[in-house]
Amino acid sequence: MRGKQLYEGKAKVLFEGPEAGTIIQYFKDDATAFNAQKKGTINGKGVINNVISELIMLRLTELGIPTHFIRRINMREQLVRSVEIVPLEVVVRNVAAGSICKRLGLEEGDMLDESLVEFCYKDDELGDPLIAQEHALAFGWADEEELDDIVHYTHRINDFLRGLFFGIGLRLVDFKLEFGRLETEEGTMIVLADEISPDSCRLWDVETNEKMDKDRFRRDLGGIEEAYQEVARRLGVLPKSGLQEDTTED
Ligand code: UDP
Repeated sequence: MRGKQLYEGKAKVLFEGPEAGTIIQYFKDDATAFNAQKKGTINGKGVINNVISELIMLRLTELGIPTHFIRRINMREQLVRSVEIVPLEVVVRNVAAGSICKRLGLEEGDMLDESLVEFCYKDDELGDPLIAQEHALAFGWADEEELDDIVHYTHRINDFLRGLFFGIGLRLVDFKLEFGRLETEEGTMIVLADEISPDSCRLWDVETNEKMDKDRFRRDLGGIEEAYQEVARRLGVLPKSGLQEDTTED
């Protein structure tokens, strides 16, 4: 089913899909942090991120939020629409953690009165610097209509995800989204792309405040595999067959 390899990223490999305009996303177990200065492997992570992201993309589609997702192919691969990625990382924060604490002198865990949407310019060499929407407009990374769509979808996604995770005893502290431009017969539209998983979210247990996301890897907290599996289990998507390497069609 896979065509030629198009791109290898830090956590995924992209291949040509079976039809024009489609791409296969292969989820690896590789983990990186601090702009790839720290590297490692989280066993079974690719399988778990694949099924978690599938669940979330399907639910968002049901809510009318357009995404690049078509279907999951097997344990490590999903078929998605080929899009032109908007070079912005859209970060949503509900609770202070990570880079905002350093930047603004906040304590980790401080509740934010309102959810914050931040934009970073997606450029590894520059370390994904924080930018204002005006930079995106001034440098042509996105136009005004696209930014309006991105902000609108981002708030809806945050509302949905907070509820989804709270329902399984997890606080959605922050997360990162990427959007793409999809060419359709009616023109170009903005769709949600990439993945939503414990790699791109901070999730804290509501009862214990335990971190259930990539911060366990970033900070060497141990129990990384178990935390990812627990998130999948609570969401009801932990594969019963185990986290095998199988990439045959389901
Ligand atoms: N994030 C991500 N990819 C990035 C940067 C951030 O998925 O390249 C996610 C990160 O996992 C967290 C949120 O975005 O859930 C906010 O990250 P932050 O800006 O605090 O940066 P970090 O502390 O991860 O360096």
